[in-house]
Amino acid sequence: MKRITILGATGSVGSSTLDLVARNPDRFAVEAVTAGRDWRRLAEVAQACGARQAVIADAAFHAELKDALSGTGIAVSAGPEALVEAARAPADLVMAAIVGAAGLPPTLAALEAGTTVALANKEALVCAGSLMTAAARRTGADLLPVDSEHNAIFQVLESKERVERITLTASGGPFRSLSLDEMRAVTPAEAVRHPTWSMGAKISVDSATLMNKGLELIEAWHLFGLRPDQLAVLVHPQSLVHGLVEYVDGSVLAQLGPADMRVPIAHALAWPERIATPVERLNLAAIGRLEFEEPDRIRFPALALAEAALAAGQCRPCVLNAANEVAVAAFLGGAIGFLDIAAVVEDSLAALAPGCPETLDDVSAIDAEARAVAQQFVSKRGERAFAGKRRAG
Ligand code: NDP
Repeated sequence: MKRITILGATGSVGSSTLDLVARNPDRFAVEAVTAGRDWRRLAEVAQACGARQAVIADAAFHAELKDALSGTGIAVSAGPEALVEAARAPADLVMAAIVGAAGLPPTLAALEAGTTVALANKEALVCAGSLMTAAARRTGADLLPVDSEHNAIFQVLESKERVERITLTASGGPFRSLSLDEMRAVTPAEAVRHPTWSMGAKISVDSATLMNKGLELIEAWHLFGLRPDQLAVLVHPQSLVHGLVEYVDGSVLAQLGPADMRVPIAHALAWPERIATPVERLNLAAIGRLEFEEPDRIRFPALALAEAALAAGQCRPCVLNAANEVAVAAFLGGAIGFLDIAAVVEDSLAALAPGCPETLDDVSAIDAEARAVAQQFVSKRGERAFAGKRRAG
């Protein structure tokens, strides 16, 4: 029986994890479930999966969660420190499925406690990959990739010494064939309607800008320890081939599977074994052909920004991520346009001096500074758009 703690249990990855746990009651038991603010859903899932503990990150909802779970025997706590405590508590595996850099402290705490981490929360690795991989090395904790592309690479990677190149595939998102002019007018509702994957709002927007693939390149660099020039991106609109490893002898090993996160999640949960999943099987004869194309870095500048941040290293990935989180939230809230997202990230990277974060406090300080700067650029762009609309009106 594996005891699992699910950070971000109310989200898309959290729900898929709970679905697999419910299908395998003889294999998995849930230790703790956590959420950001959605105490109603957290209370529901905690009871449904029989968790021993439920933690809400926003302490303003402590009383509501406590009331909702009173008499169930489920321990309730609240606040960022309680989240870290839950991640540090004994478990066989922590599923890190919080969205954004907010997931970094608990994910790092799990690694520091020596617990195996199944990592969906790519932003944590982008901000503080060196701290996380160092903690895993120090305690011997396994860091298992859940992101479908990295999980694919993990499945087909034999030995990194003989690897020439790793390729992450990208669906290209919902705006793959739009011109820059057309992209200027897209709405948040259109951006979160992903053509192949069903995911949370933030990663859906990241997929639409291709920032998601940029964050994934940085994630791959930390996970697989290759040089940046050995990491490549290929657009594959069908999202069936998830990752490819090219070896020095010219062999290419790829992992294929349906676009359903339960496949990589099941792989990480059961590793080193495998469990059955209810996902639809691939029918390659019916699919007929697999399509690939080069990514367009002119229409999708976020990818180039992330590649440059990876090459520059130091705090650049952390700044990139923080500015992107601010810009995506502003876009989803209607404050800026779709193309402003990459522009805000670019301006923020240009405005902040490089530095090398060595501790979690350093990372938090850089993250906070980058968010403040990005917020200023968001306000400027928002004001400009508002003035433009007023003139046009
Ligand atoms: P969702 O938005 O669906 O869920 C996010 C989860 O994080 C929710 O449980 C949410 O709680 C919680 N959360 C949000 N903010 C905070 C906070 N400040 N403190 C603590 N908890 C918080 O996201 P996804 O499931 O789509 O994505 C989760 C992570 O997995 C992301 O890093 C994403 O990039 C990655 N990923 C996701 C994939 C997918 O298919 N969805 C695929 C590959 C990677 P609440 O409900 O209360 O807001």
